[in-house]
Amino acid sequence: MPSVWRLVCARVRDLCVQAGRCTCGICGHPINLALHHEHPMSFTVDHIVPRSLGGPDSLDNARPAHRRCNSQRGADVTYQPAIKTSRSW
Ligand SMILES: [Zn+2]
Repeated sequence: MPSVWRLVCARVRDLCVQAGRCTCGICGHPINLALHHEHPMSFTVDHIVPRSLGGPDSLDNARPAHRRCNSQRGADVTYQPAIKTSRSW
């Protein structure tokens, strides 16, 4: 992992701490920054455009995400978590 991404991750975390809240960019639920980093619901930073699709290691392309959401989504930009929507079938 390039060191620039580590800086971006630290910056995203700082912004969350300053804002006093942190919301997962994938599922939309809050992230508890106090959780151990190996916890599935702990804080990670997601590439909005995956690296595999040419997404840069920049703050503009970074958002907070749960570890579990991040790993489930992987490089699939069409991934949608199983949360209820307003759409009626
Ligand atoms: Zn999430």
